[in-house]
Amino acid sequence: MTGAVGFGVFSEGDGPPRVGFRAGDGVLDLAGAGLGSHFAVPSLNPFLALGPAAWEDVLGRIDDLVQKGTPFVPLGRTSQRLPFEIADYIDFYSSLEHATNLGRLFRPDNEPLLPNWRHLPVAYHGRAGTVVVSGTPLVRPCGQIRDPYEPPHHGPTRRLDIELEIGFVVGVPSRLGEPVPAGAFRDHVFGVVLVNDWSARDIQAWEYQPLGPFLGKSFATSISAWVTPLALLENRFVAGPEQDPEPLPYLRTSGEWALDVELEVEVAGTVVSRTNARGLYWSMPQQLAHATTNGASIRTGDLLASGTISGAEPKSQGSLIELTWNGTRQLRLGDGSSRSFLEDGDEVVLRGRAGDVELGEVRGTILPARC
Ligand code: CA
Repeated sequence: MTGAVGFGVFSEGDGPPRVGFRAGDGVLDLAGAGLGSHFAVPSLNPFLALGPAAWEDVLGRIDDLVQKGTPFVPLGRTSQRLPFEIADYIDFYSSLEHATNLGRLFRPDNEPLLPNWRHLPVAYHGRAGTVVVSGTPLVRPCGQIRDPYEPPHHGPTRRLDIELEIGFVVGVPSRLGEPVPAGAFRDHVFGVVLVNDWSARDIQAWEYQPLGPFLGKSFATSISAWVTPLALLENRFVAGPEQDPEPLPYLRTSGEWALDVELEVEVAGTVVSRTNARGLYWSMPQQLAHATTNGASIRTGDLLASGTISGAEPKSQGSLIELTWNGTRQLRLGDGSSRSFLEDGDEVVLRGRAGDVELGEVRGTILPARC
């Protein structure tokens, strides 16, 4: 199968929302094709909870239906919803390049990487209830901002940014008190989505110490309408960067776990960044092992995102704050305009490609503030 591939929730015209499998420009109605009543619902969660044997079985049956020429609904006749009910949302900080850049920008007088960074995958708990599907417009957030040498004021963010990320989706839950070892990753995790972790940098810069991101991030996080199963990315797992120091035993993995996915960021019609997820320092199994090592359980529908994916090359950073060095440089766009951060009316599109398989894109347009 080629083109954009994944499981999502769609409606045809005014029809009821249900689970579909997208391949390129068509969507297969899984309940309609006889694959089970658990697909005649507006959420992937019941299917996700079934586990790896059921996932493999359904992919095999979809393959058979494709071979037999079963008709797909044209994508253009469908609309999409959030593909699964988001249970908990965790956002990591797994790109060495991004963490280094942000450290330099936010704490210019100190070592850019904090002492813990190479020992554990740093993360924060995000807001599951404001994860939205690709295509959802984004209202420019308002909040408390403090400009240098001025008292704090309240108003629309002037530093609205994006973060290019990949998130993995938990299918099979774990029990409270029982860590999920890195080696059990594939027993629990179904697939991946592209993620745009929208960020208001001026709100973030004033609020984030000492407890981390809050309102500068929680107004919205956008994900693909389609979840790409790991099973369709099998030949895209490659060796990740060398880790120094060697991680503690609970973070050690065997095999290759970096995901070779080419990524790009488009702003107002111009591609402003290209990178690859394979450069991430911390892998997905390490993130899952770390998130549960204290016995915290995971649930069907948990979303664990990578953190901004940035490369070391010019124009390979996954956020505007890095691409413009906190607004001290301008991005030149194809229409002749330039900007440091997002303007009202800008549409942002994130895309990912793993060989023949495209991840579902993540699209969003900025609407004016309402404060
Ligand atoms: Ca992030």
